[in-house]
Amino acid sequence: MATVIVDSERIRAKRILEILKQNVSVHDEDFATLVVARETSDPFRVLVVTIFSQSCTDIAALRAYRTLDRQVGVTPQSLSRTKTQDIAKAIRVAGLYKQKSRALKKLAQISLKHHSRTLDGILRYPVDQARFLLQELPNVGPKTADVLLSVWGRSTISVDTQVNRVSKRLGLAPQKAKYEEVRTALMHLYKPEDYHSIPLLFMAHGRKTCRSPRPRCSSCPDERLCPFIQKNLEHMSQRVAHASPRHVNQSIKRNS
Ligand code: SF4
Repeated sequence: MATVIVDSERIRAKRILEILKQNVSVHDEDFATLVVARETSDPFRVLVVTIFSQSCTDIAALRAYRTLDRQVGVTPQSLSRTKTQDIAKAIRVAGLYKQKSRALKKLAQISLKHHSRTLDGILRYPVDQARFLLQELPNVGPKTADVLLSVWGRSTISVDTQVNRVSKRLGLAPQKAKYEEVRTALMHLYKPEDYHSIPLLFMAHGRKTCRSPRPRCSSCPDERLCPFIQKNLEHMSQRVAHASPRHVNQSIKRNS
């Protein structure tokens, strides 16, 4: 079913983004994929570090990438002639290293075997086709495909856990939406020129302020536009009306 978006939703979404742009600092060096993309124009290297960053911090992903580059080399040739367990040893810090080392080995073999489908070539396809082809590669799901495409300036939005959480709390995506629905909702609300900055801003906001267990709503620049905090305030005022003074104090301390 086609998504119907009324103008007021777009205006609200635009305002949310403007406020984040004014108040949230994005540092490229906090994102492993951007650090590597700044150093190289080789999509194979960028894909490798993006795979490392799956279920892993950016710091650890970058460390794994550097160690692998030093000990083995991050090229299809070097990875395909290295034993999987040696790759695993080099990338241990990235977590899920056995699975990731197997994926890397396969990725290297595919790259050498199918020259007609090099990453450079895939990245030039129309976005939908490129997303489909990328997801045929080992350990590449929609998020990894979107990260890579986005780095290459293609029109897409990657949705990681922070983007997912922030989008839902701010009422930009339905609460139960899955990956594709969140991505589509954001792409309908925003203009293509904002697609690249949205995940970076939402991730930075999610890491620092809109944290998973205890969001710092009192210091959030988007507080007034956030349905999540409004709902929480109503919930808290109901609890305060029925709680003892000791419990009220504990609750205030926990949320401050
Ligand atoms: S008000 Fe709270 S829940 Fe809403 S976006 Fe800000 S930090 Fe997140």
